Amino acid sequence: MLKLDFHPAGRHFLQIPGPSPVPDRILRAMSYPTIDHRGPEFGALGLKVLDGVKKIFKTSQPVVIYPASGTGAWEAALCNTLSAGDAVLMYETGHFATLWKKMAENLGLKPEFLGLPGIEGWRRGVQADLIEKRLREDARHAIKAVCVVHNETSTGVTSDIAAVRRAIDAAAHPALLLVDTISGLASADYRHDEWGVDVTISGSQKGLMLPPGISFNAVSEKAREASKLANLPRAFWDWADIIEMNKQGYWPYTPNTNLLYGLSEALDMILGEGLDNVFARHQRLAAACRAAVGAWGLEIQCADPAVYSPVLTGVMTPEGIDADAVRKLIYEHFDLSLGTGLGKVKGRMFRIGHLGDCNDLTLMAALSGCEMGLKLVGIELKGSGVMAAMDYLTQHVAKPSLKAAA
Ligand SMILES: *Cc1c(COP(=O)(O)O)cnc(C)c1O
Repeated sequence: MLKLDFHPAGRHFLQIPGPSPVPDRILRAMSYPTIDHRGPEFGALGLKVLDGVKKIFKTSQPVVIYPASGTGAWEAALCNTLSAGDAVLMYETGHFATLWKKMAENLGLKPEFLGLPGIEGWRRGVQADLIEKRLREDARHAIKAVCVVHNETSTGVTSDIAAVRRAIDAAAHPALLLVDTISGLASADYRHDEWGVDVTISGSQKGLMLPPGISFNAVSEKAREASKLANLPRAFWDWADIIEMNKQGYWPYTPNTNLLYGLSEALDMILGEGLDNVFARHQRLAAACRAAVGAWGLEIQCADPAVYSPVLTGVMTPEGIDADAVRKLIYEHFDLSLGTGLGKVKGRMFRIGHLGDCNDLTLMAALSGCEMGLKLVGIELKGSGVMAAMDYLTQHVAKPSLKAAA
């Protein structure tokens, strides 16, 4: 891409689990001229996106939008609610949970990392009973927050956030619930209010189909109360001024105007399709992808079918086959980008993204590239994953009317 004198024929297939492909509609919306961020048109845009994004988080409470990557919104969630030396209970689902824990340490918090031993925890979702047990032991309520990742992008495992809420309530513990759904939002079902989440963190470049560059904190009343006492240093990330100015559709600083044009368009697309239809589309594509992996005779990183991710599928390569070598070959031969294995699973798996602006043929192209690459590397496949995925998609048609017409 950086070699400007070289342009491969056809389109590149960006099938990593974020950034996801940005639809033309959104790219065009972002190409409008940048306007005065204190002017009247801007206020209308601000109010539209601030209101629309609440529907995506399923909340009636404020959603703060930062001109930052998801990592910035992680920091915002911690520094707005917690104080130096606070104990936080974080759950190890994979690489992103691990990075968030490192950040908590860097900020001067005392994170305790809960999880199943070894690689087991990277193959299953959050075990809410472990959280409940730990909170029951904390009779003096030293733990100030429980932090979990909803869709662990490094593994392809989605956790049951409602169960985590029930665990906290069962222990009658006052800890805040902080949830990262940076890659889950607008692809996997998510309910900020109903699940009693205090801060939900998300980002633009995954299910929302935008380029990287904006991120979010959905904030409960309890979290805002906590922020009044929290003493971790914060200035840029402070919710109070932003929420106040957002009431008129403005920000205390220059917001990311063109990305907000894109967000406005993304909201029209997602809410136009209907959130439930968006979720069903992702579930169907994910099931087709898993049918392909099964037909190849390869193993899926997620070991619990109840928590398979609708966002991405982690594919384990056979013992002795470097997953990154497979990825490299697929990229070079078929102009298809797949996600690398991260942290503990580096070299052992690759990730197929099927999030955001993905349809049947996008997925089929990605699976074709994978199947050809796996063959070229010399892996003995059990059968054709491409055929299995096509069978799944045709046996589970998205639009019932098509079936009736046939
Ligand atoms: C992508 C991602 C992040 C990091 O977001 P950045 O925008 O890269 O800072 C954090 N958590 C999860 C679950 C993610 O998928």
